[in-house]
Amino acid sequence: MSTLDIKDLHVSIETEQGTKEILKGVSLTIKTGETHAIMGPNGSGKSTLASTIAGHPRYEVTSGSLTLDGEDVLAMSVDERAKAGLFLAMQYPVEVPGVTMTNFLRTAKTAIDGEAPSIRTWTKDVKGAMEKLRIDPAFATRNVNEGFSGGEKKRVEILQLELFKPKFAVLDETDSGLDVDALKIVSEGVNRAQAENEMGTLLITHYTRILRYIKPQFVHVFVDGRVAEQGGPELADRLEDEGYDRFLPTASA
Ligand code: ADP
Ligand code: MG
Ligand code: MG
Repeated sequence: MSTLDIKDLHVSIETEQGTKEILKGVSLTIKTGETHAIMGPNGSGKSTLASTIAGHPRYEVTSGSLTLDGEDVLAMSVDERAKAGLFLAMQYPVEVPGVTMTNFLRTAKTAIDGEAPSIRTWTKDVKGAMEKLRIDPAFATRNVNEGFSGGEKKRVEILQLELFKPKFAVLDETDSGLDVDALKIVSEGVNRAQAENEMGTLLITHYTRILRYIKPQFVHVFVDGRVAEQGGPELADRLEDEGYDRFLPTASA
């Protein structure tokens, strides 16, 4: 079992108006096999947490720690983070012109594992994983994300979960822009990675819809850069009914 430990994390960014603290002391512990939902109103810092874990240079950690089995993740490069077993799906995956999906995935897999998978096994694995996610086989030879619809990009993110077998996945707004069928397929993929590889998941979502298909054991509500409330699945149900109103400052005249 592995543990991803976030302790009293403070994160700032530089803006034209000066330094702005976005995360104001976030603590979370996630073990492999667990699913944690991070919920909260827009602008509460959910994506900032994801970007910080991903090692985005814009986000400066001013204090606190982020460790994976005791190893300092903050000292790792982005590649080292992936090698250590972290998977970070971006809210807006980028296009990579001139690189086919199969080659892109094989290069990434090689970097993560430290050795290249044999071409035969790889082709078979990619084909199998694409079938499970009902991705058109023609995708294998298309350029990365070029002309992909929102739903197709999301499926490709989950394809990477199947193939890379990370210890922990951070999924930021994976549900945005998916119709119900795509949402089900994507959710099944996340659930399969959890069941088969004991993946730990940090599922970041503003809306409760995806939580009908991916069941978190733990729910954390972010408000203004802090965890304002923690609970079990019943907290997500409550948010579905009530929204975030009770967490927001009351409007004054
Ligand atoms: P959420 O994902 O919960 O909607 P974010 O982490 O995206 O929240 O944003 C939290 C706050 O930090 C917001 O006020 C947002 O405007 C600000 N912020 C985040 N990233 C940037 C950035 N790169 N530049 C300027 N402001 C940012
Ligand atoms: Mg937002
Ligand atoms: Mg966000």
